[in-house]
Amino acid sequence: MRELTHYIDGKFCAASADSLPLIEPATGAIYGKLSAGDASVAAQAINAAVRAQAAWGASAPAERAAWLRKIADGIEARLEEFAQAESMDSGKPVFAARTIDIPRAIANFRFFANAAELYASEAHEQHGVGLHYTLRQPLGPVVCISPWNLPIYLLSWKIAPALAFGNCVVAKPSEITPLTAYMLAQVANDIGLPAGVLNIVHGIGADIGRHLVAARKVKGISFTGSTATGSAIALAAATQFKKLSLEMGGKNATIVFADADFALSVRESVRAAFSNQGQICLCGSRILVQKSLMPSFRDAFLAEAATLVAADPALASTRFGALVSAPHLHKVLGAIARAHDEGGRLLLGGERLKLDGRCADGYFLGPTVFDQLPNDCLSNQEEVFGPVATLIPFDDEATAVQLANNTPYGLATALFTNDVKRGHRMAAALESGLVWVNTWMQRDLRVPFGGVKSSGLGREGGLDAMRFFTEAKNVTIAY
Ligand code: NAD
Repeated sequence: MRELTHYIDGKFCAASADSLPLIEPATGAIYGKLSAGDASVAAQAINAAVRAQAAWGASAPAERAAWLRKIADGIEARLEEFAQAESMDSGKPVFAARTIDIPRAIANFRFFANAAELYASEAHEQHGVGLHYTLRQPLGPVVCISPWNLPIYLLSWKIAPALAFGNCVVAKPSEITPLTAYMLAQVANDIGLPAGVLNIVHGIGADIGRHLVAARKVKGISFTGSTATGSAIALAAATQFKKLSLEMGGKNATIVFADADFALSVRESVRAAFSNQGQICLCGSRILVQKSLMPSFRDAFLAEAATLVAADPALASTRFGALVSAPHLHKVLGAIARAHDEGGRLLLGGERLKLDGRCADGYFLGPTVFDQLPNDCLSNQEEVFGPVATLIPFDDEATAVQLANNTPYGLATALFTNDVKRGHRMAAALESGLVWVNTWMQRDLRVPFGGVKSSGLGREGGLDAMRFFTEAKNVTIAY
């Protein structure tokens, strides 16, 4: 049995009296226990970060970059172990963890190590008057809170820029998938990262998470998770005027025009709907298809989706794993029941799957597809965050834009057309932080990442991360 404890001030704490079970989603079996932090653990971690802040904030960017590279090397040296752990903890195929999640975590540390070294400050010469230049100074201790769907991938996407730009960190991974964050603490410990620079604590969001967010010594909060939690965090932080970065839910559209490359649009729509068992904030769960194309697209989409067969995530050949937890599986099954109630026609999947052998009690649900659900019903308005997609017909471009924009969310849209002008027109008209034309989830760590409306506040990535994790101070020297 594994026992995961907090990492505070350069030390692993003793196991706390309160603990949470660690469950492997593929089997439903308990594999360990997690220390569940409270107000006192939150205060200890924040105080450690406060003590370490002055020295870390004053250190040279090259020195911080060197530490980040050591963290990246430390993860890379244990890549396979990290991949197996991420798969066991979250239910995702080990293939995905090995080729996507863990390499991306390594890349996050290397990318922001380079960013810290390459950053050059801005200057504005005012003719005949003087020179303005902008200092970018660390915020001070920050809190990074992440969800369960891409555990180390998203936590490192926050920790790396925070550290790179001189902030000490208290990080809290999801209590549902804390294993690789715990291993990241081991890496920090093994390389001798100065005490207090990175603290990783565990527990329930409404308990320790709430105390971290409310602490006055915390100068910024970078959060990824549901819109409901983001909203609670915004309320708690508002009166302290803390810097906030909120990456939240989505109900993303994939839009397919009759003039699109057919094979590409089918392949990418299936990838967009069902990657990571549909548990990515960027997943396209509303698939808008031009009416004339719908019959052939529907057949091809269903055939392609049916090739995704849920299997033991630990097998190298598996490409579709388990949902993350029993409560989440039941939430998704509830959304499927609602889709039936709302008059949807089930075209694929829709029922919990029973696997043989060690996965007999796992949380499996295959790709599920409905049609005949109008865009304004709850099934097409509320985030499901599972392998459930709906096919929705549209007549023309104006209707496609209107349908795509008609949700409270605005995170990502994928658009398939061979008409370049249409691509540009629609990209400008869509209420979405990210628009992909003829692809899906094509990420570049330099570009602004985030959503509009109920999907997000602020942007992550590249210079936006640098701007978030620093305060700009303008200095004017008169001639
Ligand atoms: P969640 O909001 O339940 O939890 C996210 C994190 O917040 C967890 O670590 C949790 O412990 C913590 N938390 C919960 N309540 C808190 C509180 N009151 N104060 C402080 N922390 C608290 O989300 P989840 O179920 O883990 O993740 C799924 C959600 O995340 C989906 O809505 C998905 O769209 C979203 N998500 C968004 C992005 C993005 O980039 N926009 C990426 C991945 C996931």
